[in-house]
Amino acid sequence: MSKFWSRTAREAEPYVPGEQPSDVNVIKLNTNENPFPPSPLALEAMEQSINADLKKYPSPTADRLKAVIAEREGVDVNKVFVGNGSDEVLAFAFQAFFDPNEAIKMPEITYSFYPVYANLYDIPFQQIPLQNDLSIDVEGLKRSVGGVIFPNPNAPTGLALSRVEVESIVAHNPNQVVIVDEAYVEFGAESAISLTKQYPNLLVTKTLSKSHALAGLRVGYAIGDVALIEGLERIKNSFNSYTINRVSLAGAEAALADEPYYDETLQAIVKTREWVTHDLEQLGFWVAESKANFLFVKPNGIGAETLYQQLKARGVYIRYFNKPGLEGYVRISIGTDDEMKRLIDIIQALIS
Ligand code: PMP
Repeated sequence: MSKFWSRTAREAEPYVPGEQPSDVNVIKLNTNENPFPPSPLALEAMEQSINADLKKYPSPTADRLKAVIAEREGVDVNKVFVGNGSDEVLAFAFQAFFDPNEAIKMPEITYSFYPVYANLYDIPFQQIPLQNDLSIDVEGLKRSVGGVIFPNPNAPTGLALSRVEVESIVAHNPNQVVIVDEAYVEFGAESAISLTKQYPNLLVTKTLSKSHALAGLRVGYAIGDVALIEGLERIKNSFNSYTINRVSLAGAEAALADEPYYDETLQAIVKTREWVTHDLEQLGFWVAESKANFLFVKPNGIGAETLYQQLKARGVYIRYFNKPGLEGYVRISIGTDDEMKRLIDIIQALIS
């Protein structure tokens, strides 16, 4: 706390990001990054973008990137918004669509950035407890008016709602924006993007961080009705019109164009997720049915925090949440087969 801080800085309750250890030899399974490198075509495009043109500002409208996204998602280009990671897209969406005089709803256990944004922008929020099986309470999110935000699949559980369930939430709130955060949707859940044609109150956000192995690039996007996109553009242009830099634009466009690499790496991650789930279950752990690139796990024979610490001592980072409701669980990102074999070997040794 400093006397120089504004009220906003004093009252902020910032998000605490997962550890980013500087030791390159650790096995990093704590922040849901993609274990594979970005597409070689994306790396090449970025190298080529490092040239004298960097003296110029990037395109404030990012039209080329938006066109690539529109093509991929099967929507008109004026239904696409792009931002510096989906975190930024979500922050803009909170400002653009939610007001301080009406509470929004979100699951009680969910991506912890949502309450941070809500607090930052003075938006009251109601946290709806998960059901006993840890799934999102669809009826709970539909109770009373107010905007809604939830991830599908949810984080950190990895459990997904069906498109029909998502639609029922969107249809129930026609006068409020419903944000569906699809950061992990590509790993096995049903996307709600096709519903944006029908529902002007639906905003779907996505990211290249996970599915396209570009967390370091910071590129995310939103798809929604033209009026929602215009709202986001108003907020963005009141903050930083050049929010995606030239190198990121080049990398993102090339990565999205490299479908074969995307398909191959995605399938590998899903396959690994399946055998790791099986092996953890064999060891007596409870594992939520994940549609994401991570597993939400309740260890057996060892406490969650101890498991996290013991793995860390052996150079394997997973996520332990020291938060009410999450104490008994850890979240493990899906790494390469070799990384996951090492994880399983260590766990086996720890509990035997
Ligand atoms: N939504 C969810 C549910 C997430 O877990 C994350 C990543 N931590 C994000 C959004 C943000 O992703 P990014 O800013 O890298 O696009």
